[in-house]
Amino acid sequence: ATNRTPLMAGNWKMNLDHAEAIAAVQKLAWTLKDAGHDYSAVEVAVLAPFTDLRSVQTLVDADKLDVRYGAQDLSPHASGAYTGDVSGPMLKRLGCTYVAIGHSERREHHGEDDALVNAKVKAAFAQQITPVLCVGEGLDVREAGDQVSYTLAQVDAALEGVPAEQAKDVVVAYEPVWAIGTGKVATPEDAQEVCGAIRGRLAELYDAELAGGVRVLYGGSVKSGNVAQIMAQPDVDGALVGGASLDAEEFAKIVRYQ
Ligand code: PEP
Repeated sequence: ATNRTPLMAGNWKMNLDHAEAIAAVQKLAWTLKDAGHDYSAVEVAVLAPFTDLRSVQTLVDADKLDVRYGAQDLSPHASGAYTGDVSGPMLKRLGCTYVAIGHSERREHHGEDDALVNAKVKAAFAQQITPVLCVGEGLDVREAGDQVSYTLAQVDAALEGVPAEQAKDVVVAYEPVWAIGTGKVATPEDAQEVCGAIRGRLAELYDAELAGGVRVLYGGSVKSGNVAQIMAQPDVDGALVGGASLDAEEFAKIVRYQ
């Protein structure tokens, strides 16, 4: 992972209202500042609920924080009669660097399929927002030993029709569903197997140089106590952190895993 800047992204899910979000980002920034964190060595981002984004933007701009932020979803459409949805242009106006797309909780609770995930990836790139494309198998697939082929099929579908000049900026998060919020972290070898396969597939879909520049994250019960072993794997370039990102001190420890 030498030429790729690691990314530690907190997925807050549906937690922290806008007032709590301000306190959380301030605490994270202060904790990292006290530790002398170099943001160019490990990038830090939070993926917040839509209702938090304006407050986070105001804080980050006012205090010139190096913390990046983004949303957890976006509409595949740019505007129009889509009640309740939030568009890429709206997120761009709020200064979002990232947007999670295809998180397993969206796939499960909102029936998001690969075609919709693909449309959302394109909608993000259309606004120069970096998609954090979430992929990963459920327990049944893992038990059948099909985790690599299953996950690569998700990658293929999500990137269908996405040109190399956009795909070079994608972030892929490998999140085995059985490890999300369960406390059951994948072994470093399990994470490496699939993250390495994702990079291999990017080389096939595009080329080796592009694949070598894309950041592939692991997600699933990452904590300060297990992050270093996972980050030691050659094809793991960061983590998507759910539960543990809600505690600023714990998340700062994950960011400073080295
Ligand atoms: C996630 O929601 O992306 C996630 C990895 O959650 P957790 O860290 O809580 O398992």
